[in-house]
Amino acid sequence: MRVGVIGTGHVGLITCASFAAVGHDVVGTDADRSKIDALSTGDMPFHEPGVADSIRAGMAGGRLSFSHETADAVREADVVFVCVGTPARASGEANLVAVEQAAREVVAHASAGLVIAEKSTVPAGTADRLTRSVALQRPDIAGSVEVVSNPEFLREGHALHDAMHPERILVGADSDAAFDVMRRLYEPFTSEGARLIETDIRTAELAKHACNAFLALKISYANALARLCERAGADVEAVTEVMGADSRIGPAFLNAGLGYGGYCFPKDLVAFDHLASSLGYDFAMLREVARINDEAIDATLEKVRDALWNLEDKRVALLGLAFKPGTDDVRIAPALMLAQRLRELGATVVGYDPHAAESAVRAQPELEVAPTAYEAAREAHCVVLCTEWEEFQELDFDKLGEIMATRVFVDGRNAIDGERAVAHGFHFYPTGRRPLTPGRA
Ligand code: NAD
Repeated sequence: MRVGVIGTGHVGLITCASFAAVGHDVVGTDADRSKIDALSTGDMPFHEPGVADSIRAGMAGGRLSFSHETADAVREADVVFVCVGTPARASGEANLVAVEQAAREVVAHASAGLVIAEKSTVPAGTADRLTRSVALQRPDIAGSVEVVSNPEFLREGHALHDAMHPERILVGADSDAAFDVMRRLYEPFTSEGARLIETDIRTAELAKHACNAFLALKISYANALARLCERAGADVEAVTEVMGADSRIGPAFLNAGLGYGGYCFPKDLVAFDHLASSLGYDFAMLREVARINDEAIDATLEKVRDALWNLEDKRVALLGLAFKPGTDDVRIAPALMLAQRLRELGATVVGYDPHAAESAVRAQPELEVAPTAYEAAREAHCVVLCTEWEEFQELDFDKLGEIMATRVFVDGRNAIDGERAVAHGFHFYPTGRRPLTPGRA
């Protein structure tokens, strides 16, 4: 089948790669001309495991191309995916200007029979708005161009794997014809066992927000427990292990730490809350989830202050800057929020990340970055582990201790074996667990 993709960012590019990989003909386009220029020569706009090879294979096989012209992505397409950003407005409401603009461009070049699939995360009711816009813009094809909802569930850092082996594919549509097009499109995945869930459009739109809000809620639940465990002298890792062993709860997303960040959870939570209140329902739980998430940064900051006292003449090293491992995405990254707070209190902050240093400095030009974890830690009074990259498991605490000004380690992700750090003279501050002190470990 022929597929067009509007917006070749974190979601759009994976959409291009995965559909080309299963044999569809795909054309991607983006309003950012430099992105298309780079992609056309095989350069990737961001780090995501396996994507560069997959994109290059699609292009070499003649199934994938990129164009500046939306018309090239729409002409002869069976389905065009809208994968543009949906940032939050100051009110929390999702800003759908890019979605509308992208859809207008698509509709301008559309022929009868086209399916426009929303992959961007949008509030329930957006497809109805788009359908009304189509009718106003192109009365000649209104009724034969259908808008469907096909939310994306990929996880950055595992995005290509998730797109190639989806746990579920969700399609919301209003007609058998539109469902049929989407079934044929996803047949290479469903024939391998992927589950296709079909709903009406508003249900599909709402389900995406419901999933993200619930995942954020699990993280905040673990973080609220962490605060409680710190006060009670209990161990949050053991508590969440007990919880996770219950199949009704499950272990995923019960990790206490610096909290969630990234492009999706923070904005999707406020957009969902905004949608609820616009429909007359006060979904106060969502605001509490966000408050507990903010509190996770405060709690980590307090550990640094507890260990170092005044921060004005202190140097703090942050290990990990990406909002999570496996990506160079620093949008709403907890590490960068912590960096900002530490600087406001007078500390000198230096960061290290195996992949996200460049994007971190772009986002926060005042941030100093170092080429290795050890260079970041040199002369530092405290190290804070902010993103649980695997390489931090291998930290040499002997070496770290020798180059630091004082041996203080705050584990903002409970990723490190504290006993190992303490054995090298470190004062070790985990999250939601008892701090460890040399001689008293
Ligand atoms: P992104 O910022 O990485 O990519 C968006 C792309 O759209 C950019 O390249 C931008 O230049 C382009 N764009 C903006 N307006 C355009 C227009 N009018 N025409 C053509 N291109 C345009 O964003 P993303 O992370 O890919 O997210 C896209 C959507 O998918 C959002 O709604 C997001 O919530 C949702 N989503 C994201 C993820 C994720 O993990 N990043 C996962 C699931 C869903």
